[in-house]
Amino acid sequence: MKSAGNPLPQVSQNELQAMAYSDPLTGLGNRYRLRDKVRLLAAERAQDPAPFTVCIANLDGFKPINDLFGAEAGDEILCQVAHRLKACIPDGATVTRHDGDEFAFVLPLVFERNGAERIGQMIKDVLSAPYDLGDRNVRLSASFGFAIYPFAGEDFEELLKSAETALYRSKRRGRGQITVYSREIAQEMKRATQLEQALRNAIIADAVDVHFQPIVRIKDGGVVGFEALARWIDADLGFVSPAVFVPVAEERGFIDALSETLLRKAAEAALSWPRELFLSFNLSSAQLMDPGTTDTILSTLARVGLDPYRLELEITETAVMTSADTAQRIITDLRHQGVRISLDDFGTGQSSLGRLRDFTFDKVKIDRAFVSRITTDRASEHIVKAIIAMCEGLDLQVVAEGIETSADADKLKELGCGMGQGYYYGRPADGAATLRYLNDHFREFVTIERV
Ligand code: C2E
Ligand code: MG
Ligand code: MG
Repeated sequence: MKSAGNPLPQVSQNELQAMAYSDPLTGLGNRYRLRDKVRLLAAERAQDPAPFTVCIANLDGFKPINDLFGAEAGDEILCQVAHRLKACIPDGATVTRHDGDEFAFVLPLVFERNGAERIGQMIKDVLSAPYDLGDRNVRLSASFGFAIYPFAGEDFEELLKSAETALYRSKRRGRGQITVYSREIAQEMKRATQLEQALRNAIIADAVDVHFQPIVRIKDGGVVGFEALARWIDADLGFVSPAVFVPVAEERGFIDALSETLLRKAAEAALSWPRELFLSFNLSSAQLMDPGTTDTILSTLARVGLDPYRLELEITETAVMTSADTAQRIITDLRHQGVRISLDDFGTGQSSLGRLRDFTFDKVKIDRAFVSRITTDRASEHIVKAIIAMCEGLDLQVVAEGIETSADADKLKELGCGMGQGYYYGRPADGAATLRYLNDHFREFVTIERV
């Protein structure tokens, strides 16, 4: 149809072709350019079986910059990224803008994993230098997924899917990661996805349970509280350790739902214990980065009717380090409401004694790694002794984790350790078994069942 009035500028066939194949913002090729390059190369290499490599790179931390400084600044960064990429890719390689903050490469002379990792590292370094936005500098990193033809796929769609799988794995592992697709990695991703699906279903079906392990006064073995530990037995996967499924829930973004259910169940159980016993609950590191955590915890306690003074939250040093400001806020707000904070697995994380001064904790839990060797290894004994002395000086309570024998318990008593936890005193057990334990171990405690 002819347009009336001003005619559209004449565009030649060639120009149209070029427009269809290029990204208007950065001037790089687009997805169609990438597809054609890969198809061409695959056709050439089908006779000559030499491999080549496809890569997708995704900028880390681009979205917050875009949100904070505006879309114009975001566009400026994407153009600077494109410029750097064009300048640094090897001869014969192609770079295209794939999608949003994602770029893709075709690397005809990269044949194997080491070569791919080297190029990934080089590009990552180039992209990590500061970006000039006029009055300020910003920094970014990038994650990479590589797929090598023909092992990771014989046609464009398959290769791209493999590169995306590799990139997804890199993204899940944090910033600046480089993954080269392999069958093992595909398997690993598949297992994680199966686990994720099964866990999501288990949460909906209310099949994730919570068990309790006693924490005692070492002096006389009297129970003072219980640590809640998540338990899940899947029909197909069998017993899955919380050390495996909690990180999956964190990485895939549903730790809040899981943790809320667990805290509710644990708090409900704690209602039938003697009032002087505390409930110790593990908080995951992702929750310490989420400003909504304080409200979620307090409203769960309110709904169940458990006094915040009876709750302790176990957090790890690494979690505190990752997002210090938010973590500090959460800790302070919860402590104001009476919740106490324990530093879990002390001595194994990204330890910094300074943290003990900067943050206000109530308790330190000495990691099992030291406690389990306390009677056989002088160094462990000295470390435990030093932690106990330090806690005394800082007016912090101290719990030794993983006490398995009476010899461990005797040694800790001798060193003046206040509290302990471990198989020697009691294994984690379900709610009913915990009430039986209390009947046997807590003076004057009679459960409703027995009355
Ligand atoms: P954690 O918080 O350090 O918990 C102590 C772990 O040591 C538990 O493992 C417990 O069963 C085990 N343990 C206790 N005493 C002994 C002992 O004497 N010997 C030995 N060998 N082990 C002992 P579990 O239940 O497998 O939990 C592993 C980790 O998973 C926990 O370490 C915690 O980091 C995480 N986790 C467990 N439940 C939850 C939860 O509800 N939420 C979150 N965010 N994390 C949880
Ligand atoms: Mg713990
Ligand atoms: Mg621990």
